Amino acid sequence: MTDNPFFEAWTTPFGLPPFDRIRPEHFPLAFDRGMAEQSAEIAAITGTTATPSFADTIEALERSGRLLDRVSRVFFNLDASNTNDALEAIARDYAPRLAQHRMRIALDEGLFARIADLYARRGTLALAEDQMRLLERHHLRLVRSGALLGSEQKARMAALVERLAVLHTLFGQNVLHDERDWQLVLDEVDLDGLPDFARIAAAQAAEERGIGGRWVVTLARSAAEPFLTFSTRRDLRRTLWEAWTARGRHEGARDNAPLIREIVALRAEQARLLGYDNFAAYRLDDSMAKTADAVERLLLQVWEPAKDKARDERAKLEALARAEGLNEAIEPWDWRYYAEKVRQAEYDLDEAEVKPYFVLDNMVEAAFDVARRLFGVSFTKRTDLPVYHPDVRAWEVRDSAGDHLGIFLHDNFARAGKQSGAWSSRYRDQETLDGAVAPIVVNNNNFAKGAPTLLSFDDAETLFHEFGHGLHGLLSRVRYRSQSGTAVRQDFVEFPSQIFEHWMSAPETLRNYARHYQTGEPIPEALLRRLLAARTFNQGFATVEYTGSALLDLELHREVRPEGLDLARFEAELLDRIGMPKEIGLRHRPAHFQHLFAGGGYAAGYYAYLWAEVLDADGFAAFTEAGDLFDPALAARLKDIYSAGDTRDPMELYRAFRGRDPTIAALLEQRGLTACQ
Ligand SMILES: [Zn+2]
Repeated sequence: MTDNPFFEAWTTPFGLPPFDRIRPEHFPLAFDRGMAEQSAEIAAITGTTATPSFADTIEALERSGRLLDRVSRVFFNLDASNTNDALEAIARDYAPRLAQHRMRIALDEGLFARIADLYARRGTLALAEDQMRLLERHHLRLVRSGALLGSEQKARMAALVERLAVLHTLFGQNVLHDERDWQLVLDEVDLDGLPDFARIAAAQAAEERGIGGRWVVTLARSAAEPFLTFSTRRDLRRTLWEAWTARGRHEGARDNAPLIREIVALRAEQARLLGYDNFAAYRLDDSMAKTADAVERLLLQVWEPAKDKARDERAKLEALARAEGLNEAIEPWDWRYYAEKVRQAEYDLDEAEVKPYFVLDNMVEAAFDVARRLFGVSFTKRTDLPVYHPDVRAWEVRDSAGDHLGIFLHDNFARAGKQSGAWSSRYRDQETLDGAVAPIVVNNNNFAKGAPTLLSFDDAETLFHEFGHGLHGLLSRVRYRSQSGTAVRQDFVEFPSQIFEHWMSAPETLRNYARHYQTGEPIPEALLRRLLAARTFNQGFATVEYTGSALLDLELHREVRPEGLDLARFEAELLDRIGMPKEIGLRHRPAHFQHLFAGGGYAAGYYAYLWAEVLDADGFAAFTEAGDLFDPALAARLKDIYSAGDTRDPMELYRAFRGRDPTIAALLEQRGLTACQ
């Protein structure tokens, strides 16, 4: 194929991918050539007997795989945001081949010998701080991939990695199919209790599925949660709840249970090969937390107070439910519904009253404005840039001197073919090794599209969260690609995103940007006060559903011999042992726990959100203590964290910003988990 866009230099503005010309059939050839090119580059590094230097080994490694990186970024971003059968088939085909390719490099003996030689002499190489860390991390990465193993063990390791890549892909595709295919079809009589925004979204979903005139609720979180919150129909809430919590778990070809069994068994074997007792020990050895015990300590520090708070919350829900004539216990499909009623009664707060003040476009402007005030960056809308879907918006980002920093793509709406949830990713990473390369960052959300699109308070927080990740990529100022932006330890990567959320709920942000979609009036002060007062409401529930999932993740990956695991029994016994309140469901059950099984990134790592919350609560407290949410000195030190990428140890970075180690006090206060008695 001569017209494959991946084999040409891109002349598009800012070197964006020429989305209009990229077809599914271009990917396989580009993947093949990209892997071949990188293999040749590695062979060139190892093909000399000269004493290795940092430049001819580490920097040459950093330069390798440019084409493969380019095609992989485009492919995996499109497969997540805008997939179809052709891309899904390529993903199934290439996930194992790419894993195999990466593993071949990680286990290349010539390459490791050169890096190990440099590592042994690292004190004599006169390296800069970022170079020293880069060398140490490349060395550690290869050791953790199995570079020190014998040849038979190496082959087994490679086979495990390849098989895991297949299983991860299948797992994610199964969940997507359940979320896409299952539908609760409603007639007008079934809509009782649903506010306008939920009705409109359900009408649109029906339209998309060719049953216009009716209403459809899918299993996407953005559709399921409002229905569980507002529908007065207990029978339908139960139907939806049962389908929602069964995603990924059903007999037949698309059942995720056997995949999970195999995944955890293979991971445990990987860990054993590398000399660890279990996968959690292996994974956590290279994290800020360091050990499973440290993670468990943190989770248990919030678990008991969270259960106490949830018990108080349940008592209020039950009292209200009894007053409304429900003479049965509160069930999981009731919690959100009665919680919303209690919220309305106690705080006089109605989500349907709040939403009209949270217009998507205004909240995007708010996020840009906070970034400008904290970090001096500006965003200019560009309608002339290539995008992969008409709903995607493109912005050029500049620093305070007016210099180009990067491109920000915003993909905000739910649609078929898009993974659920919200995430930030990149089409290109910042680096300066061979001249300045500007980042191209994308934020994905799954808001129900409206005219205009109205957000819940939580949605707005999610928007800011992903934008925090986006800034982590955009503000990156590093030399080497593999240290760029969000390439930090996995339990540190949520810090820049989570601390940014705090500025969304700052009263001055809301006064400026939370404006009624029809009148343009700012949110009334009384409503704003009630909204902020309600922030610790239902935090017992939220902490329990999250921490339960985090404990499940940790325990599952602490299993020494998980072969033949009875997943249902494991889940039931664990929930029993930790005293999971039966009227609260896990935020993610194993069969749809994408963090753990649609990829390896968050395996034994779901705790990272809470770990980072210790940091973000403690870090934001620095601004409130200073009495200025935009304190210039603090903002400058915070910007250093966003800019540093992985060039420094995260705890050192945090201490340089805060002037001391983090403490958990601010987190407990933020979730209302202090002084329960
Ligand atoms: Zn995040």
